[in-house]
Amino acid sequence: MSLPGADGPHLFVVSGPSGAGKGTVVRGVLGQRPDVWLSVSATTRPARPGERHGIDYRFVSVPEFRAMRERGDLLESAEVYGNHYGTPRQPVDRALAQGRDVICELDVQGAVSVKRARPQAVLVFVEPPSLDDLFLRLRGRGTEDPPSLTKRMKAAYEEVKNKGLYDHIVVNDAIDKAVERLLLILDGTETRKGPHTQ
Ligand code: ADP
Ligand code: 5GP
Repeated sequence: MSLPGADGPHLFVVSGPSGAGKGTVVRGVLGQRPDVWLSVSATTRPARPGERHGIDYRFVSVPEFRAMRERGDLLESAEVYGNHYGTPRQPVDRALAQGRDVICELDVQGAVSVKRARPQAVLVFVEPPSLDDLFLRLRGRGTEDPPSLTKRMKAAYEEVKNKGLYDHIVVNDAIDKAVERLLLILDGTETRKGPHTQ
């Protein structure tokens, strides 16, 4: 891993179990670093109420997704919780070429693929303080029906086992602290791998 900050823009991958707070922490960071560009993934998952096409995701059909993948338009792609997700390559490269740091929110398969394709990428794992907290957050968000909640909790056990693959682990206990820590990682001043909950 090369340290971000000094030598130009970097690609950051943020992963972690569904409900760990990735979206919340990343939003907090973007509030303070509007120059950072957040990648908008393509997905075949149906939009949740309030989600906007082109802002939260590019919502596409399965044939459209396959066509993007076959054209080589995706930097990485994976099947997650029964739907396809992928990172459009061109917007990421455009932002990096403009000198902007880029954040992609991906599952662990995506993180591994990006690291293989772009060894300079910095992988960050956002972890909930406990699986009980994760369940409460996921349920509290009110976006998942019971089967989806169960699927996401089962996946969480597996995902947490993979956290050793990441360059940094951020425990999302207090939101402000987690945001602060991700900001340090972006700035290249965080040398600890973590977890760090203080
Ligand atoms: P993810 O993007 O990882 O799926 P979200 O950012 O949607 O997770 O967060 C899941 C839920 O947990 C949301 O309702 C969010 O408001 C809440 N949440 C996020 N971070 C914290 C935190 N540090 N403490 C308590 N609740 C949190
Ligand atoms: P959700 O359906 O909750 O928005 O996302 C489900 C999972 O898919 C999360 O772990 C999220 O990080 C991951 N994900 C979102 N976009 C992508 C993507 O483009 N590629 C990969 N590999 N995973 C993604």
